[in-house]
Amino acid sequence: MGLALRAFLLAASATRVFASCAHGTFLRPRAEGGTVEVAKFGYTGAVRRQGPLNWAALESPANGVCATGTNQSPIDMVDGVFSLLQGSDVQLTINDMPDGAEFENLGTTVEVITQGGSLAVADKTFELQQFHFHLPSEHLDNGTSQAMEMHMVFQSAAQEIAVIGTYINIADGGAAPAPAAKRSRIFGRQEATPPAVAATTLLETIFSVVDQIAVPGTKVTTPPLVMSEVVDVLKANAFQIYAGSLTTPPCSEGVSWHVSTARLGITPASFTKARDVIGFNSRYPQNSPGEPNLLMMSALGSATAAVVAMAGGGVVAAKPAE
Ligand SMILES: [Zn+2]
Repeated sequence: MGLALRAFLLAASATRVFASCAHGTFLRPRAEGGTVEVAKFGYTGAVRRQGPLNWAALESPANGVCATGTNQSPIDMVDGVFSLLQGSDVQLTINDMPDGAEFENLGTTVEVITQGGSLAVADKTFELQQFHFHLPSEHLDNGTSQAMEMHMVFQSAAQEIAVIGTYINIADGGAAPAPAAKRSRIFGRQEATPPAVAATTLLETIFSVVDQIAVPGTKVTTPPLVMSEVVDVLKANAFQIYAGSLTTPPCSEGVSWHVSTARLGITPASFTKARDVIGFNSRYPQNSPGEPNLLMMSALGSATAAVVAMAGGGVVAAKPAE
């Protein structure tokens, strides 16, 4: 853990840390007494509102790294920003939940409280705390947003955090994929059509009861959950790994991201049910790891524009590259 992160975590622990991707970890312990705490941040609006452009100001200095960090998540997963780790090279176990699991609406996401599981990679072991969902996906797969993304949040004894991110596509029989040729013209690349997937039983089971937690702060017990289905899929594919951050306040860095190359599937009916409850909860894509925070660049851009305006200058068009 870097000195900056350690200092930040100290600051975070001294203030109230709201429900976030780190719910249930040391960064944001679960509430006593079984109550579901609703998050205070949001995904829309800027100044004096709760959206991601204003997260740093919502809780200062705890959330400062949201606006200044240079290893923020999510990102566009393009070649060069991640390394590949085969699923067979990690040890991943997640306990089934034969009596069902607690499923909560935190206001910013819906979350399943797990009952044991671990991720062992290299020389570190992380324990599973919970998994939750984003709609649409937060990470982009080579420039392309996916229908949803599941985040499985793990914490080590040394209080380091690892997250497995898995894209969720509309299962076969859903809406027709966007025309690949048109998208290729826009982005200048060939790949665009999402791969076809079958519905994942785990997701269908979980979202069969999501309408029962439509109100933030409510919870329900799911039907029995079998986790081996998803574990097997993850192990059979690969992980795109990089060092990033929480995608929610306090945006802590030092998070070990494992974005799976696998796809889970959700039926159109279940997707609609999930969307009706979740709405929208995706932070905008951040700059590539190691590059300046986009909010810092935006501030510099505003300052530059102000100087140009004061000097009586207009917009200077750059000469196009030959
Ligand atoms: Zn998340």
